[in-house]
Amino acid sequence: MLGLPERIKACLFDLDGVLTATAAVHAVVWKETFDRFLRQRAERAGDSFALFDIADDYPTYVDGKARADGIRSFLASRHIELPAGDPRDPPSSQTVHGLGNRKNELLLSRIRHGGVAAYPGSVRYLRALDRAGVPRAVVSSSANCADILAAAGIDCLLDVRIDGVVAQREHLAGKPAPDTYLAGARELGTEPSRSAVFEDALAGVEAGRTGGFGLVVGVDRVGHADALRAHGADVIVSDLADLLGKDDSGCEESGDRDDSGDSGCRS
Ligand SMILES: [Mg+2]
Repeated sequence: MLGLPERIKACLFDLDGVLTATAAVHAVVWKETFDRFLRQRAERAGDSFALFDIADDYPTYVDGKARADGIRSFLASRHIELPAGDPRDPPSSQTVHGLGNRKNELLLSRIRHGGVAAYPGSVRYLRALDRAGVPRAVVSSSANCADILAAAGIDCLLDVRIDGVVAQREHLAGKPAPDTYLAGARELGTEPSRSAVFEDALAGVEAGRTGGFGLVVGVDRVGHADALRAHGADVIVSDLADLLGKDDSGCEESGDRDDSGDSGCRS
């Protein structure tokens, strides 16, 4: 009663926007980073500039991608090219790494002060998979994945973690390349064709499609279902718990559930 086809034996989850409610935090922090950069640049040149648009620029250029890729992609859309710089550049540096470090500094501050919440429906779904013996991986571009999982209290519900740190260490290309999802399936010991990918980003569903995964579930929390479908999602849900209690024919499960009131590893 997991809402999955019979062939699916493992599940791979994006983090931000799928398991944790951090996608909105990322978007706001990116806007703060880019607007400050664009404003300073325009002031120096005596120019005008258009603000970073969360509804448009974020999903198109940034969401789901590794930090530096998102920065280069958005700046290219404004015909701006910055030197890569060095990963140790201070947050004030006018380089790709400098901007990335600025964004990360703002994000960590928000994680520390605001806390991070897992979606209750996602916790229920992870627990149901756990009970059914279906192995689970998180596959995220975030370099802060481990911290976010721990802060949200769901680290114990995931068997494998492929994140920004692992991707850099193993030289895995970021989404929309399928490499990180393929690594997740490999670590779980399943074929991509027998694994499901759960994604809320256009770059992520594209990775699921090009990786030949058995099912790509698009998670639509912001009303971009059509774009998710166009990029490769096979099915769309607004919450992972929508999948529970439905068999393959879409019929509601009638049995009782014992997974109400979930709050992750600490409940
Ligand atoms: Mg996401």
